Amino acid sequence: MHAQLPTVATLPQLLANGQTTTRSVVDTLSAAIESRNPVLNAYLSWDGAEAARWAQEVDAQSVANRPLLAGVPIGIKDVLNVQGQPCGCASLILEKYVSPYDATAVARLRQAGALPFGRLNMDEFAMGSSNENSAYGPARNPWNAGYVTGGSSGGSAAAVAGGMAVAALGTDTGGSIRQPAAFCGCVGLKPSYGRVSRYGLTAFASSLDQIGPLTQSVEDAAILLQVIAGHDPLDSTSLDRPVPDYRAALSGDLAGMRLGLPREYFTDGVDPQVTWAVRAAIEECRKLGAEIVDVDLPHTRYAVATYYIIATAEASANLARFDGVRYGARESGQDPIDSYGRTRARYFGPEVKRRIILGTFVLSSGYYDAYYLRAQKVRTLIRRDFEAAFQQCDALLAPVAPTTAYPLGERVDDPLQMYLGDIFTVTANLAGICGLSVPCGFSDNGLPVGLQVLGPAFREETILRVGHAYEQATDWHHGLPPVCAEDGGQ
Ligand code: GLN
Repeated sequence: MHAQLPTVATLPQLLANGQTTTRSVVDTLSAAIESRNPVLNAYLSWDGAEAARWAQEVDAQSVANRPLLAGVPIGIKDVLNVQGQPCGCASLILEKYVSPYDATAVARLRQAGALPFGRLNMDEFAMGSSNENSAYGPARNPWNAGYVTGGSSGGSAAAVAGGMAVAALGTDTGGSIRQPAAFCGCVGLKPSYGRVSRYGLTAFASSLDQIGPLTQSVEDAAILLQVIAGHDPLDSTSLDRPVPDYRAALSGDLAGMRLGLPREYFTDGVDPQVTWAVRAAIEECRKLGAEIVDVDLPHTRYAVATYYIIATAEASANLARFDGVRYGARESGQDPIDSYGRTRARYFGPEVKRRIILGTFVLSSGYYDAYYLRAQKVRTLIRRDFEAAFQQCDALLAPVAPTTAYPLGERVDDPLQMYLGDIFTVTANLAGICGLSVPCGFSDNGLPVGLQVLGPAFREETILRVGHAYEQATDWHHGLPPVCAEDGGQ
């Protein structure tokens, strides 16, 4: 994608051949961040000196028998714990919080030789679709800094697409990896629920959250998933199933595959430019050997309501722990209850408060059956829709979002409008299945469009194969955002 920043797949070879050094990669990275971050606001913090020390150590080691990710720096969303680094979830309530431990996904990256590098911007506690809910200001879209990055992993997407990260980790509760990847023009993978350990991920909605990679290529997503996937005794919801060889699945063709188009994802409400780009991508997949069939996901229209009941209910419980006693900032009061109230009133942002209130409401007696319980039942119907669809095809092709990125500020005063933009992504989380976002074109105003590939639970190898074959046949992922051209593409 960017000549100056190698991919995860190419870097080890370049290092082994002596064509580059880890120090040089870290220097390029630091220079890019210095130059672009003041505009793009993708990193909340980073430690260039630590990275330089680490690079020197790596460069001094023998290149023989190196682990898979030796010498690869990976950006980390501010919701994932990295020992000794701040983990603020882009919230003032955790402003001074420094993590005492590594999330399992982070620990696995380290074991594979990578360096968790920097803290990437996000919506506060991962609640949002535009990164405008960050307490530190929004990340900005590398293709046009007046536009949103998407969210909540907006910093991760902007850093990868803007040449400020080789790759990054994000999290996806209702689209937060796939949608910013689509808006910024990089690859984003949401693994199936249970594929990656959530230990060390600050919980938003525990039955929906998953950690996954944002990368320059599908192959890179496959490599990072390989490293972070698998059972972890520290997360009882991580499944004890073998991890396939994801890279081996990247055959480059789609021969013998059946791909389904959910009718409900191709409606009038979708921006025609998005539909056009996705339709062109479908044609390309047909040329690559896939058979295309129509399928139905009849409960799609209930998905946003269902998601915003379940996610807020779980969030209201998960965020109860931030009371000023155990973590982060504290306001003093007349008694402990008064102190909790003052702390939460002062340091949580407006969207987080809205969700805690909504979540508490749907769980309260008298409303529980009408909202929460009913949403759980509809969730089952949505999961069954996908099970039925996957009887007819191997994977689904769809838009990631109904629009491309929109101007900053356009939707901040209209939460409902913001929530409705999640219609095509929340379904995968509700059903527990996997989803991939791959660049598939640009709108007339030069903003990226994403193709979504959805697959059955624990069939990441299938969607990676589809995404990779499509990517290899097109060159959308080679585009360079203006921000990178302006400063000489450093
Ligand atoms: N945009 C969705 C929300 O606001 C999804 C967020 C996420 O996946 N973390 O809840």
